[in-house]
Amino acid sequence: MALFTKQEALDYHSSPRRGKLEVIPIKPCNNQKDLSMAYSPGVAEACKAIVEDPANAALYTGRSNLVAVVSNGTAVLGLGNIGPLAGKPVMEGKGVLFKTFTDIDVYDINLDITDPEQLVEVVKTMEPTFGGINLEDIKAPECFYIEDALKAAMNIPVFHDDQHGTAVISGAGIINAAEITNRKMEDMKAVVVGAGAAGIACAKFYVNLGIDPANIYMFDSRGLITKGREGLNKYKEEFAQAKDATLEECLKGADVFLGLSRKDLVNKDMVRGMAKNPIIFAMANPDPEITYADAKDAVPDCIMGTGRTDYPNQVNNVSGFPYIFRGALDVQASEINEEMKVAAAEALAALAKEPVPSEMCDAYGVKELTFGYDYVIPKPLDPRMLEWETPAVAKAAMDTGVATAPIDDLDAYALQLRE
Ligand code: NAP
Ligand code: MG
Repeated sequence: MALFTKQEALDYHSSPRRGKLEVIPIKPCNNQKDLSMAYSPGVAEACKAIVEDPANAALYTGRSNLVAVVSNGTAVLGLGNIGPLAGKPVMEGKGVLFKTFTDIDVYDINLDITDPEQLVEVVKTMEPTFGGINLEDIKAPECFYIEDALKAAMNIPVFHDDQHGTAVISGAGIINAAEITNRKMEDMKAVVVGAGAAGIACAKFYVNLGIDPANIYMFDSRGLITKGREGLNKYKEEFAQAKDATLEECLKGADVFLGLSRKDLVNKDMVRGMAKNPIIFAMANPDPEITYADAKDAVPDCIMGTGRTDYPNQVNNVSGFPYIFRGALDVQASEINEEMKVAAAEALAALAKEPVPSEMCDAYGVKELTFGYDYVIPKPLDPRMLEWETPAVAKAAMDTGVATAPIDDLDAYALQLRE
């Protein structure tokens, strides 16, 4: 059953005020003195302090808590290339999630630019304004170049959520699913269907988690990606296999199926051919590559994850980006690196093993949630992610030398996040 009607969704966006965000001053401006400090001439003291030492911008402006959600609207949700104006509700929505879950402020920046070089040139000029850049709904393969170029050019975190958010959260699920089914990462055979933003990023991340790239079989709309196949981009080429095979053949004996493509590409027989206790993450939205019901019917002892709220093991990016950015911003990290993403995935994986408070179970209308086949990752609304995932990311930033404002007492920091 749908949770809302079309009209309810439209009303939510239009009333009582239009849109989903507003800008609120956090300093008084009630009298002549306030006025002259908020703006001229008092503001000049803050300006001069920043001229003296640019690091003072973190103290005298909101920059270090401000993230740009940048999109050109070329790959919005499952709606495709609807452009930056029609994509704006999504970017505002992202702002709502950042603010609600981790108190990070967002300006959504919807750019009418499709040329990747031009997009990079424009976004890199935004560094004085923001503490971080969340790239969003930018189509593949341009998104890979754009992110790489911006990471190289900017000294603040640049993070394309459609890629890495998905990788981190599904990665947490894979870590736990491997443990539950007694598998070692290095022995696992994975079939990845979808070689776009999410598929490529997930495959790369799983290699960081220990899966052998030679054991990854990646498919796109033309079939298995093989060496020398015509028209491959360099991102797909990295995963090219020597010999061609069908999806059905590749799934024989596979430990992991990862779907980031389209609905209904996999049937029950294909799943039956997988290894014992297969790990099936079918994440095409809104309808997965194989339904939960079909996968469970074909192989009852599978670990099944989807992008959907109505089934167990929901991979939802909201379990990642707010907390990852919170940790990165709080140590003023110059980037979000692989170690920080792995730390986020490991923290989520560890949290899933903790006893779940009864209020959480109530919120999801279930009697209990215990670590196992139907609960390999924390639920997307679990408030404990803040104190588990965020300090882990901050610590990884410090350990890898990218934190420009390290935190002395991480335990106290975690405690303060809880309050
Ligand atoms: P994308 O960049 O457009 O990539 C889609 C990929 O699917 C492309 O590589 C495409 O092949 C491939 N594909 C299309 N039809 C196929 C077919 N018949 N057989 C095999 N591969 C096929 O999109 P994306 O951003 O990566 O997202 C992909 C899907 O994952 C979407 O449904 C999205 O909603 C979902 N997703 C879910 C989550 C989540 O649950 N948390 C997160 C991210 C994405 P070509 O390269 O040949 O075009
Ligand atoms: Mg997105």
